[in-house]
Amino acid sequence: MPLIDLHLHSRFSDGTYGPEELAAQAQRCKLAAIALTDHDSVEGCQDTAQACAAVGIEFIAGTELTAEQNGNELHILGYCLDTLNARLLTQIATFQAVRQNRIREMVARLNRLKVPLSAEAVFTLANCRAPGRPHVARALVAAGHCASLDEAFERFLKRNRPAWVPKFKMSGAEALDLIHQAGGVAVMAHPGLNRTDELIPGMVEAGMDGIECFHTKHSTATTEHYLELADRYHLLVTGGSDCHGMNKGKPLIGTVKVPYQLLEALKVRAAEIRAAAAPHAVP
Ligand code: AMP
Ligand code: ZN
Ligand code: FE
Ligand code: FE
Repeated sequence: MPLIDLHLHSRFSDGTYGPEELAAQAQRCKLAAIALTDHDSVEGCQDTAQACAAVGIEFIAGTELTAEQNGNELHILGYCLDTLNARLLTQIATFQAVRQNRIREMVARLNRLKVPLSAEAVFTLANCRAPGRPHVARALVAAGHCASLDEAFERFLKRNRPAWVPKFKMSGAEALDLIHQAGGVAVMAHPGLNRTDELIPGMVEAGMDGIECFHTKHSTATTEHYLELADRYHLLVTGGSDCHGMNKGKPLIGTVKVPYQLLEALKVRAAEIRAAAAPHAVP
């Protein structure tokens, strides 16, 4: 049975792999298809598509948008996106600016805590438009202020820790709309991590297409719970490793077993979404 991985980050957000390395890792894992889902970015999709084509692996253009619903953080995956869609790119640019300003604010808080670190050091290390807390953590480790990324999160960066800064987010419904209008399929990422079950009916009402049932941090029981919910709400099922490259030791890519047939259903939905958006277009 061919396997896929539909949740991967690259150096265009807080992953470490570049396009060729990601394709080579997918090849090593004998994956039939992968999706790139960088946080608030689609920048790596074109090069990763080429790198995958070169080694005969199917590529799905995606993203992972950070949203908020009723005060809860939600991650919404978008798949089969038109990565040149103007509104998607404009919105992504806005959220990338929010991320960059948040880095400056987190660094200012660290400085007030007498931790000397410059925003420039974080931006240089991040070397991407969608920097995040993992980059601040890596900069803290690189400068010798923390022994590990976990220590950096525990001491400073986790929610409500002294250098944590809340992030302006779009609503869940806005994320769904942004993905749909770019021809994409919208899926709730790792629901077991965000414990947002009570939001699922409302998100289904707002047009959400699927939920990520298979994920590195989902236990078998959690996966089964979300498979049941997917069945109840007639949602697509997806899955992926959420691999960020080598920053957590062994790469996670390919470690969550996701059957290819789930991608077939996803592509059928993507075709429906595009047909609905352009009902008079010649196929
Ligand atoms: P941000 O988008 O800037 O809020 O950062 C979120 C990212 O930080 C996620 O992709 C996680 O992979 C990572 N992250 C969150 N909590 C931790 C933690 N305790 N240790 C390491 N990485 C974390
Ligand atoms: Zn991440
Ligand atoms: Fe996520
Ligand atoms: Fe992710």
